[in-house]
Amino acid sequence: MNKLAALLPPKRMQACAADAGGPGRGRIVILATGGTIVGVGAAGKTTGYRPGALTAEELLRDVPELFSLAEIETIQLCNINSDDMTAEMWLALARTINERAADPDVLGFVITHGTDTMEETAYFLNLTVKTAKPVVITGSMRPATAISADGPLNLYEAVCVARSREAIGQGVLIVFSDRIYAARSVTKTSTYHVMAISAGEMGAIGVVRDGAVYLYEKPGKAHTTATEFDVAGLTELPRVSILYFAVDADPELLRYAAAHSDGLVIAGAGAGEFSRLWAGIIRGLTIPVVVSSRIDDGIITRDNLLCPNTVAADNLSPQKAAVLLRLALLRPVTQARLEALFAMY
Ligand code: ASP
Repeated sequence: MNKLAALLPPKRMQACAADAGGPGRGRIVILATGGTIVGVGAAGKTTGYRPGALTAEELLRDVPELFSLAEIETIQLCNINSDDMTAEMWLALARTINERAADPDVLGFVITHGTDTMEETAYFLNLTVKTAKPVVITGSMRPATAISADGPLNLYEAVCVARSREAIGQGVLIVFSDRIYAARSVTKTSTYHVMAISAGEMGAIGVVRDGAVYLYEKPGKAHTTATEFDVAGLTELPRVSILYFAVDADPELLRYAAAHSDGLVIAGAGAGEFSRLWAGIIRGLTIPVVVSSRIDDGIITRDNLLCPNTVAADNLSPQKAAVLLRLALLRPVTQARLEALFAMY
């Protein structure tokens, strides 16, 4: 018997078991990819663990309450530290969701994912899945073996959102520590705290309390069924490198990245600025260059740009700008077209 089951009053366990798989309630598909939520380490500790150690099925045993919400189906897509996420896996996720969304019994999807890169996966899927059914991503900051592991409640709340009417047509959402975030603005903001996911000045768009979903805002930019990106049949994405500017940043890195990439994103200082040395090199580049900022909050507009051949990332972080640029480069793009895409998404 798992550790939670051992503590539960027998009646509660019976109720959960009796509910499991009951007809007519619809199905939630859990797409498991790994991360700390299935991490295992020394009993009680929050560091030095191995992410992606338990399977989705093993995780579910710690959350029997899920089975009273919906029929639960699990698909173990991979079991990795999310720093090993790849475009190939993103494409597999998008393909699986797009295929399974056609099943009328499926109410929605929950993706379990490491927190390090979940914001990038969320934004990629927000631009590429073609369904109004809820797609919710969650994870945890503490491994399953930690004291007060946050994974089980995050997973429970993610399923509550994925089966809710409120989440239909809202694009990809991240549910974390009782809050609901829109994929475009969400980011990881702490290396250790359970409230590690936030959306900066855009904020959360809703909350979950005792399984009830309260959604207050709607994502403002085009997503899912309203985007032009079709990734069906693809196995890879264009290569985009992110260059981080700092005092004395080596111009050779910029030259190397430009020679080995289809496009660049600059994580500039302030409102997307960099040295005259970097500006001289960037002006001579012939691949698309998008300018974002190493600062978490704020917007970069065309008027901020130091080089005329660059495109402003609006308020997208460098890692989100890279996701959009990779999708934009699936077709030949002019600078004007790139500007339009960064204004739209
Ligand atoms: N390194 C882990 C991952 O992203 C961290 C986490 O899940 O919180 O997979």
